[in-house]
Amino acid sequence: MKRKYLIAGNWKMNAGGASGLELARGVAEGTKELAGRVEIVVAPPFTALAAVAQELEGTHVEVSAQNLYPKDSGAYTGEVSAPMLLESGARWVILGHSERRQYFGETDEFVREKVRAALAAGLRPIACIGETLEEREANRTLEVVFRQLDAIRDELASRPGVGVIAYEPVWAIGTGKVAGPEQAEEVHAAIRKRLAEFSAELADATRILYGGSVKADNAAGLLGMPNVDGALVGGASLDAAGFARIAQAAPER
Ligand code: PEP
Repeated sequence: MKRKYLIAGNWKMNAGGASGLELARGVAEGTKELAGRVEIVVAPPFTALAAVAQELEGTHVEVSAQNLYPKDSGAYTGEVSAPMLLESGARWVILGHSERRQYFGETDEFVREKVRAALAAGLRPIACIGETLEEREANRTLEVVFRQLDAIRDELASRPGVGVIAYEPVWAIGTGKVAGPEQAEEVHAAIRKRLAEFSAELADATRILYGGSVKADNAAGLLGMPNVDGALVGGASLDAAGFARIAQAAPER
């Protein structure tokens, strides 16, 4: 199967007001010649979600949330559900980001519940997995990545190709230390092989994005790898022109 590239911008806790609208307009403008070839997604904070979705209506750019709570409604003060995100105009949701795992104690099981809730509501999950520096140095990269992957693969297999995996080595996030293309490809290929042991259809259909200090000047090498199907971009997604250059680095497939 020919997997279409997906370039997603995780704005994190930035651009939550008027600046988010300007950024969204810049992304739509800067990537419009890629429409149909490369999927473009932006993930603003909750406060800007509906306004950004409205701003991007009729363009090729889709909107993602950065998190959800895995219940539809109820007494969960401060939380936001998958149906609410959908109603706000989101079509995607980033789940299990390492910052959520690290700062908010999200477990593999909780991430699984979130992936299930997203899919049940019709939202497309971008599920993040990745090892810390300590785990990599202890040669535990694949053990950790497979554990995180195995927790969600049943959910992903219920709708092959709807969900996306983002391999984000924690040591490369926001640090400027990007995994080299071969280093990333090695883990991406192992993830796809692990999926194939479970379901050939799932392995073939699932896009595996790389995330961790992706910038305009290192994107081409990463995106040129056979098992790298796109990028999840943090810091560099806050600059529309730089983000567009990352998307433009996706080769023809
Ligand atoms: C991220 O947070 O998903 C990320 C990849 O961040 P950065 O690009 O800033 O490393």
